[in-house]
Amino acid sequence: MISRRDFLSVGTVAAAGLLLSPKIKKAYAEQVPSMKDNQGSKLILLGTMAGARINKSRISCSQVVVVNNQLYVVDCGYGVARQLVLADCDLKKLKAVFITHHHDDHNLDYGNLLHLARMGGLREKVQTYGPYPLKKMSELYLEMNDYSFNTYQKQLGMVTLKPLIEVHEIARDGLVMEDENVKVSCVHVVHPPIPAFGFRFDTPDRSITISGDTAVCPELVEMAKGSDVLLHEAMYKPALMNLVKRVPQYKGLVRWLVKAHTDVEDVGKVAHEAGVKTLVLTHMVPGDNPNITEEMWAEGAGKYFKGEIIVGKDLMVI
Ligand SMILES: [Zn+2]
Ligand SMILES: [Zn+2]
Repeated sequence: MISRRDFLSVGTVAAAGLLLSPKIKKAYAEQVPSMKDNQGSKLILLGTMAGARINKSRISCSQVVVVNNQLYVVDCGYGVARQLVLADCDLKKLKAVFITHHHDDHNLDYGNLLHLARMGGLREKVQTYGPYPLKKMSELYLEMNDYSFNTYQKQLGMVTLKPLIEVHEIARDGLVMEDENVKVSCVHVVHPPIPAFGFRFDTPDRSITISGDTAVCPELVEMAKGSDVLLHEAMYKPALMNLVKRVPQYKGLVRWLVKAHTDVEDVGKVAHEAGVKTLVLTHMVPGDNPNITEEMWAEGAGKYFKGEIIVGKDLMVI
């Protein structure tokens, strides 16, 4: 086993895209199980970046819960389908898609994921869940691509996408869906001015709570109680003024960030209160500032949470 400190430094090296020395590579592989190991439910972080700006280190927010090789994707930031393939997930095993809320860093590739799964051999119906206007978005996606999709359907006999999608808009807390692999529940979280949801996945061997984007939310704490894993968004407040300097076009950004997201120290309090075993940080605000090290993220949450803390990276398997 490697220590948390070793793991953090290993993660930093891996994230920076540097060539890993054989020793580090081995330690990294031991800590991060491969998807080739099919035992048990897994949470894979596909994208850990807040916001839809493109950079080299992280992509926008998305993750997948994998149970019996079936894929339950939560959020569809840009690049979600490619990240699934890079994580050794079979796109035709897409079973359900959950959108926490309609910000572009969470839904930009919603339609594209469904289409690309169809291109990857999907033949079973996919259930999709999210707040209004998910139905309209699904219809408009099909309409926008009607010309090109139709061409292939007529010319090559490609299967039609529409019958493969069943859309469910969610508006209230409680049970979202249940099948042979998983029971999924949701609560409204605090992400003004739009409705946003956090989800809890209970599988035969694990419970995983995913915060989505939220300020501190007592209902989320309640739902997360007893989870094995809490995947929570995180913001590093002292860096916000620097972030604003880099994107001066967004007036009122800091005021909104503080109202709609959770400072990393408060994330530690949430995890402590919920009594989870492992806290995983994601949706970093800011997610592209190399001056905020993984140790700094972990130390912030660690002030109040004494369980295992994992600073999320794209393609990490948990
Ligand atoms: Zn976001
Ligand atoms: Zn958001």
